Amino acid sequence: MTIQWYPGHMAKAKRQMIEKIKQIDVVIELADSRIPSSSRNPLVGEIASDKPRLLILNKIDMADAEATRRWKNYFENEGLAVHLVNSQTGEGTSSIPEAVHHLTARRRSKMEKKGYRPHADRAMILGIPNVGKSTLINRMAGKKIAKIGDRPGITTAQQWIKVGKTMELLDTPGILWPKFDDPEVGLRLAATGAIKEELLDFQDIALFLLKIMVDRYRKQLAGRYDLPELPELTGSEEDHNKLIGLFDAIGKNRGCLVSGGLVDYDRTAEIIVRDYRRQKLGFLTLEMP
Ligand code: GDP
Repeated sequence: MTIQWYPGHMAKAKRQMIEKIKQIDVVIELADSRIPSSSRNPLVGEIASDKPRLLILNKIDMADAEATRRWKNYFENEGLAVHLVNSQTGEGTSSIPEAVHHLTARRRSKMEKKGYRPHADRAMILGIPNVGKSTLINRMAGKKIAKIGDRPGITTAQQWIKVGKTMELLDTPGILWPKFDDPEVGLRLAATGAIKEELLDFQDIALFLLKIMVDRYRKQLAGRYDLPELPELTGSEEDHNKLIGLFDAIGKNRGCLVSGGLVDYDRTAEIIVRDYRRQKLGFLTLEMP
């Protein structure tokens, strides 16, 4: 499903989210480990400013493990609770209720002091499209999906899913729009498939991936495309030509030629982007803290 975001939709999504968050004790923000910063929407900080927050980096199986470790440290230094998961296999998901419970300790002790018995930790998952929100909700619901029924003040279709002994999760995620303003962020979102690639030039995405690989994943790049030599990038204008040269070499090695022996750039670009998405280039994180 691809969503077209218009200002009216964004305003409406924001209003609904603010309403929903009133019912919530902990906001679970989901991001993609391959692009931990670019896959976040800064609005979460604004609309959830008075709630404890758990940042979950999902799809750890697709990212560079060392980079993920650095990102986790980075966010923790910013004061965020961070959790790493693979929603597809369930790795890391069983300890989410405990992490959420930890974040509600203050609220619970306040309630107990007032003589109330604290209710279950109510959580909701927020994030931009394609970070894995539905996959994670289904995973958490498991087979023992227990429907607790509607609570007053919440629109009809929503259900709370009981997860473990301490947590209740809203069965519908909050969907936020991706960042649009920074072109590099756009390239990262397109490379991972978070936004429609038609919005961007395939060749730009492929060149962007090549640059990252020449910088940080040289062995994987050389191995995948039989490249005996890789250029050194210096940060000068020459870099672009060096990357085009590399593009040419990959196209030739892959037999992507048009008449006259010239390289078919469109096909070459498609191969590189598809290879990235299918993990044929290894586990690549596209930005570093
Ligand atoms: P949503 O739009 O945020 O609800 O994202 P979805 O749950 O629909 O997931 C988007 C795509 O990512 C689907 O193809 C999922 O199978 C895939 N996905 C979700 N979580 C993971 C994960 O941890 N690892 C991998 N490899 N794929 C995942």
